[in-house]
Amino acid sequence: MDVKKIYMDANALLEGHFKLSSGNHSQFYLQSAKVLEDPKTAKLLAEALAKQIKESGIEIDTVCSPALGGLIAGFALATALDVRFIFAERVNGAMNIRRGFEVQKGEKVLMCEDIITTGGSAMEAAAVVKALGGEIVGAAALANRGFCHREHSDIATKPNCKLPQNIPFFALADFTFEMYAPDECPLCKDGSEAIKPGSRGN
Ligand code: ZN
Repeated sequence: MDVKKIYMDANALLEGHFKLSSGNHSQFYLQSAKVLEDPKTAKLLAEALAKQIKESGIEIDTVCSPALGGLIAGFALATALDVRFIFAERVNGAMNIRRGFEVQKGEKVLMCEDIITTGGSAMEAAAVVKALGGEIVGAAALANRGFCHREHSDIATKPNCKLPQNIPFFALADFTFEMYAPDECPLCKDGSEAIKPGSRGN
């Protein structure tokens, strides 16, 4: 499956000068929502990811995603794996599990995002699942930004990866474009201004 082509065809791989949520700048931005707006594509991607996860043999009771970005990918993946789906959400900045969702002691939970950059949000949500008694058995994303090692890829884990190394991480593709600290950004040096993705029609 050519995931990059799917992102390109959906205009979900944007080129410009972007300010990422981490504060860093980049020439590219992945807008997974654009890929997932077609439910058939969402289903196709989730089924490919589910196949990889099933082949690994890990046992999963539940998929959990951090809202908002991970919701559609997580729901589609849970559907393909035929397991329960719950989500965590931020309340006053802190990740929480609400809405009556329960986590049983020892419940095997796979964390899922649309894209894993460092895995920070997924692991914040995972901490809440663990506090409720759940066991984190893996992480999954449609796309990997290249900071964490994933199954079936030779990309090495970088120091800023927050995914624990003792659980498998599944993704369909690596998108390893550069990110820059604002004061080192070559695009800023060329005089352009970074925009927040989502603004100005992105
Ligand atoms: Zn810049």
